[in-house]
Amino acid sequence: MGVTKQLYQLQEVDLEIESNEQSLQRMVSQLGDDQALAKAQNRLTSEQQRLDDLKHRQRSAEWEIDDRVNKIKAAEEQLYSGRIKNPKELTSLQHEADLLKTRRDQLENRALEVMSQVESAEADVAATGSEFKKLEEDWHRQQQRLSSEIEACQSELSSLKQKRQQLSAEIDPKAVDVYEKLKKNKGQAVARVEQGICRGCRISLSFSELQRARSGNLVQCSSCGRILFLP
Ligand SMILES: [Zn+2]
Repeated sequence: MGVTKQLYQLQEVDLEIESNEQSLQRMVSQLGDDQALAKAQNRLTSEQQRLDDLKHRQRSAEWEIDDRVNKIKAAEEQLYSGRIKNPKELTSLQHEADLLKTRRDQLENRALEVMSQVESAEADVAATGSEFKKLEEDWHRQQQRLSSEIEACQSELSSLKQKRQQLSAEIDPKAVDVYEKLKKNKGQAVARVEQGICRGCRISLSFSELQRARSGNLVQCSSCGRILFLP
């Protein structure tokens, strides 16, 4: 096998290694990333908090209503007990009872409003809670999948690196040296030649360059310096 074909194969392996390393990096950065989950958790917590506040308001309203109901009962007991004979005092007591009833009615209306807010907040918490649960399950599944993909990628990489070592050991060290230097400077060291054109720089090659490249010996493009490979 000509040295350029060997170098071309080496480059193919290097490109595969590079692409695997990029995937690995991307996957590793996704591993343990739970930002979306934390955001959903925050939303659930704040909805839960709102529900707790509303329930607290509901209880307060109910206590206030109970308080007024007891006071009304006490006032009416006095009114109808027959113990109070003074008409002025009776009128004042009646007025007090009426005021208490008005306030009780207002409180009852407010309690009803709060109750309907509690119901809607409960529905919100239930919906967000089940959304969160699903998100959490998906996340765990995704993380598991990611872990096994990372493992597969790592083992693929180690076998590619082994393959690379074998390949490079079979190639003339001087040619490997040229390859490594070009790879460092240009990213890709070997350029395919197609229809007389170097695919590295898209310049037409001279007849003599083509002839020399065809021989399979190491020939570098006179324009970009890449190693020319004729498939
Ligand atoms: Zn070139």
